[in-house]
Amino acid sequence: MAKVSFLGLGVMGYPMAGHISAAGHDVTVFNRTAAKAEAWVAQHGGAHAPSPAAAADGADVVLSCVGDDPDVLQVALGPDGAIPAMRSGALYIDNSTVSADVAGQLAAAGASRGVGVLDAPVSGGQAGAENGKLTVMVGGSEADFAAGLPIMECYGARVVRMGPAGKGQQAKMVNQICIAGLVQGLSEGLNFAMAADLDTDALLGAISGGAAQSWQMVNRGQTMVEDKFDFGFAVDWMRKDLRICLEEAGRNGAPLPVTELVAGYYDELSAAGGGRSDTSSLIRRLRKG
Ligand code: NAP
Repeated sequence: MAKVSFLGLGVMGYPMAGHISAAGHDVTVFNRTAAKAEAWVAQHGGAHAPSPAAAADGADVVLSCVGDDPDVLQVALGPDGAIPAMRSGALYIDNSTVSADVAGQLAAAGASRGVGVLDAPVSGGQAGAENGKLTVMVGGSEADFAAGLPIMECYGARVVRMGPAGKGQQAKMVNQICIAGLVQGLSEGLNFAMAADLDTDALLGAISGGAAQSWQMVNRGQTMVEDKFDFGFAVDWMRKDLRICLEEAGRNGAPLPVTELVAGYYDELSAAGGGRSDTSSLIRRLRKG
């Protein structure tokens, strides 16, 4: 069993670290707000450390699941960051959704110390993290992927190597691009259904088995109709993800007209105070009209 450290015990990281511990690994956690690390240790055992560097000292594998680009750079490479404290031959796995550029920076910093690095963003949301059934899209060398696979399989049902450093993050960008337009389409459809006074229970029962079916329709259709958004994947995280997609598209030249439009809609929702609501709250913009 490996000596594993996990940095960032948020909605995602807390249960992901729990699955690694439940598989029998020796887990040390770090969280910026120490109370969460103390709660995690009280629930799962193991230890907590006062900094990423202290958590990484002596670890075989260090994972992070924090926020945006600056957050990952801080826990991995900042003062008291993990990678400079890791031993040669160890492995760093970043599960945050960040830019491919940050993935490249971590890979270069790791390579200069003999530390393997994988960018391994996840999809599947809070429920996927809690039941250990995430999809994990991985960038990095084949050897590092093989070394990290037993750890990633603790919380991932589908763990797929996409290519070298940055390819995991690019795959996650595709995931978010596909979701953005889809949720807007679902919002328009359900808002139309309500305007037409259709029986939405009967409607969802009928069309969620047909060609319009989607994860969003099955898991969010009912709560969208009920105007419930106090859970799930936050609008502000989606704004970050779409910003990353649009920046990458600026480099590779792929047009993203719908994604750009929907990113603006999410900005509106956030400015109106809905930044923590689930991304399916897009339908709220249509209702007010
Ligand atoms: P979250 O609940 O807000 O938790 C964020 C975690 O990162 C907290 O532990 C926070 O510490 C820590 N953190 C943030 N900035 C930090 C910094 N500069 N230094 C040290 N620690 C820092 O977020 P989450 O929902 O778990 O998401 C984490 C990552 O997974 C994000 O990149 C997100 O896009 C991605 N993701 C989320 C979902 C989802 O459904 N939630 C799904 C797929 C991917 P504190 O406790 O001190 O604030």
